[in-house]
Amino acid sequence: MTNYDTENIFAKILRDEIPCTKVYEDEHALAFEDINPQAPRHILVIPKGPYVSLDDFTAAASTDEIAGFMRAVGETARRLNLANPGYRILANIGQDGMQEVPHLHVHILGGRPLGPMLKSDP
Ligand code: 5GP
Repeated sequence: MTNYDTENIFAKILRDEIPCTKVYEDEHALAFEDINPQAPRHILVIPKGPYVSLDDFTAAASTDEIAGFMRAVGETARRLNLANPGYRILANIGQDGMQEVPHLHVHILGGRPLGPMLKSDP
């Protein structure tokens, strides 16, 4: 496991030390509203295990954890009625990905046409 910081904000949300607006939970994952939404629907899905990023997760997590997490992402979107007309998932990884919180999270964005994937150069 890569240098996981047990005091990161999503670890605290998983331990119920910080509140969140939960939209889905199962044995593998928790999904909750992003505090600073970038679209009409902006949900974060996090695995329950201590994984820093998608890189860490795909290298170290079990097949069950990976399958369970991906199912939870899809299930969350279905429960929010986003599958049709569609939505976007996004995961920022590391420095160039501009990941802010060092616990793997997949963003689910939707609720309107989202436009091109990358608008412009930084
Ligand atoms: P990143 O840039 O790491 O991919 O995304 C981190 C996301 O976490 C951001 O979209 C930010 O708004 C969200 N976020 C940061 N702190 C909190 C928090 O305390 N609660 C919730 N619900 N979202 C948070």
